[in-house]
Amino acid sequence: MWGGRAGALPRVWGLWPPGVLGRRPLRCSAASLAGSSSPQCWNCGGPGGPIREDGFFCPQCRALQPPDPTRDHFSLMDCKRSFNVDTAKLQHRYQQLQRLVHPDFFGQRSQTEKDFSEKHSTLVNDAYKTLLAPLSRGLYLLKLHGVEIPEGTDYKMDNQFLMEIMDINEKLAEAQSEAAINEFESIVRAKQEELTDNLSRAFEQDDFEKAKEILTKMRYFSNIEEKIKLKMIPL
Ligand SMILES: [Zn+2]
Repeated sequence: MWGGRAGALPRVWGLWPPGVLGRRPLRCSAASLAGSSSPQCWNCGGPGGPIREDGFFCPQCRALQPPDPTRDHFSLMDCKRSFNVDTAKLQHRYQQLQRLVHPDFFGQRSQTEKDFSEKHSTLVNDAYKTLLAPLSRGLYLLKLHGVEIPEGTDYKMDNQFLMEIMDINEKLAEAQSEAAINEFESIVRAKQEELTDNLSRAFEQDDFEKAKEILTKMRYFSNIEEKIKLKMIPL
């Protein structure tokens, strides 16, 4: 895991989850910075006013400003608030932001700016990670629409689905060979891809109840994926 820490930047590339790239059409827009306003500069007291290209630095003294607590992940990552994000653009934005705010670039600056850069960098990591994976992106988007699925509560799932999950879990527990475990992995991946497509449609139709149901199912499969990963670690 990245642990939400800024120092994780160089390690990101090895952790790219499979199947997340290139599946989605271009939907990001550059509109999210427009209309933002920032308070006075903490360093020079200069007016906030319309912010410059990046919105992170004072236009007058170039001091790094604190993160804007009202800004959501989609806005930060310069994406339209939609389930369909372009992961290549997301990655590009992530790199762009880390080049601006990563603590490595603030070694010679004031403690205040060091602290702000840590906060910015953690936020950028968090936003990137959340929007990259379909499950966390869906849960986050649902939350922005005021719908939450608390961890551990079983959304009223149909019995057939619960039986299916139980069946997979039982068979997975018995699976010994690498080939058998690999087969489970591809079955679960196909399920997740199908659910992701359905989720995309549900969000397009603003059907948040449907999205909630699909995300709950995805969470079940995500738990199975974790178990598969554990089984793949050689003893
Ligand atoms: Zn300033």
